[in-house]
Amino acid sequence: MPKKGDFKPLSERYEVADNGCWLWTSTKNTGGYGFFQVNDRNISAHRYFFEFYHSIRIPAGMVIDHLCGRPSCVNPSHLEVVSPRENALRYTSKKTECKRGHSLSSDNLYLTPEGWRQCRTCEQTRKKARRDKRYATYYARYNAIADGKP
Ligand SMILES: [Zn+2]
Ligand SMILES: [Zn+2]
Repeated sequence: MPKKGDFKPLSERYEVADNGCWLWTSTKNTGGYGFFQVNDRNISAHRYFFEFYHSIRIPAGMVIDHLCGRPSCVNPSHLEVVSPRENALRYTSKKTECKRGHSLSSDNLYLTPEGWRQCRTCEQTRKKARRDKRYATYYARYNAIADGKP
């Protein structure tokens, strides 16, 4: 357990926000997730709070989803155990734009059989690029044959 003296109780490392989030005010990683150190090991704060308050172990390979969408929140009732796939699906379902800035709505949105939300504009660009490449290869071969004729 932590060294005596310099350990700030976990209950003093977050602030309760108006919406009920417990926002971690102590050390955070680049993703904005809180952590604390025990014997030089980094312990993920929200995972710790989840296990502690619900008295369960997070099964191996499972991740914690923030229902409130705030990575620094450690309120156990805002956290849920999900599979990495479910978590990714939830993440994409919150996205409103693709990475090129096309709106992911109505006509421009399509769902793959696996449930992934995809940008139709980008998919068409990818398809066209693949087709152009095929044609280019075909014509190059065709021209080579044509050139070889007497
Ligand atoms: Zn929250
Ligand atoms: Zn797009």
